[in-house]
Amino acid sequence: MRIEENFSLEKWNTFRLPVSTRWFMEYADEEELQKILRDEYFQENRSIHIGSGSNLLFLNDFNGIVLHSAIRGMEVVEETETDVILRVGAAEVWDDVVAYAVSAGWGGIENLSHIPGEAGAAAIQNIGAYGREIQEVIVAVEAWNQLTAEKRVFTPEECRYAYRHSFFKDEHNDPYIITYIVIRLTKAPQTFCLNYGLLQKELEGKALSPQRIREAVIGIRASKLPDPEVVGNAGSYFMNPVVSAIDFEKIKASYPELPSYPAADGRVKLSAGWLIEQCGFKGKRYGSVGVYEKQALVLVNFGEASGNDIAVLAESIRNAVRNKFGVELMPEVKYVG
Ligand SMILES: Cc1cc2nc3c(=O)[nH]c(=O)nc-3n(C[C@H](O)[C@H](O)[C@H](O)COP(=O)(O)OP(=O)(O)OC[C@H]3O[C@@H](n4cnc5c(N)ncnc54)[C@H](O)[C@@H]3O)c2cc1C
Repeated sequence: MRIEENFSLEKWNTFRLPVSTRWFMEYADEEELQKILRDEYFQENRSIHIGSGSNLLFLNDFNGIVLHSAIRGMEVVEETETDVILRVGAAEVWDDVVAYAVSAGWGGIENLSHIPGEAGAAAIQNIGAYGREIQEVIVAVEAWNQLTAEKRVFTPEECRYAYRHSFFKDEHNDPYIITYIVIRLTKAPQTFCLNYGLLQKELEGKALSPQRIREAVIGIRASKLPDPEVVGNAGSYFMNPVVSAIDFEKIKASYPELPSYPAADGRVKLSAGWLIEQCGFKGKRYGSVGVYEKQALVLVNFGEASGNDIAVLAESIRNAVRNKFGVELMPEVKYVG
């Protein structure tokens, strides 16, 4: 077990905020995790479990315990003629999982290439990109209840997946720590998801394979998203808002070019990036913070920003979108403070 006091989190959040935590604890296996959960000091103090911090906004130093898993590894636990079932340690880098699957020719997660973060968080966030979400391949999620220190294996239904949402994200649920995820991949995939316009265009007329799709996705992502190693950011800051069909028609009457996508229950998903762009924020810089020039959904730290500076910009964007369109933007990024 690794325990550090007054530990810098600068490398543990992709906004690259120079915050620190009173304690940083990293467990190597489930036994060590159980020990931490049963510890009186842990139970009495504030804590947060992090992955690689690519979806977090620290508003200040964390006066408590930051937990991190060091459980890695990928193991084929079942194989049929058509599928493999892969069990993955929560601390495995998600993109390494995708690269491993793709190199074996297995399909199902190639569209989710190059999404930063760890496998455990991917299952919590229900990560998605280019028409795919991780929930489509989840077979089970292995988790520990932080209050009872007991293990539970969740079925996909119990994970209650929705757009960028799961059971684990509901604050009122008992807090769970993910230690392993189990996913199903297709050994010789014949069908691929090319719903996204740019991806379709990129692959037009080409023979498809998980590898080719991965390469195309990586190329598109590199052209549209800033690299956190170069400029601090957390990807999409807001979720795409989902509105009723009636509200959609009302907004569309004033803005006929409004992009939209069908959502569950006859509702309509709008593009948060487009709404923000219409409010004039794209490419604007306000001191140390700003809105990325190629994607209005991404807020960036130019180097000296505090978490509060970023939160203030986010709030003015929310206000502007609310005033112009009557639409409420909700942060995808989790605030820690
Ligand atoms: C450049 C960039 C591009 C991005 N593109 C996409 C994209 O295309 N699609 C997408 O969906 N997301 C995207 N994201 C967001 C981010 O990559 C995902 O949300 C990712 O799953 C976060 O993983 P993480 O390990 O960094 O988790 P963190 O940010 O550290 O944590 C995220 C949440 O998970 C919790 N958590 C983490 N690990 C565990 C665990 N083992 N047990 C319990 N709780 C845990 C944390 O408490 C927190 O609530 C992008 C981010 C960046 C910076």
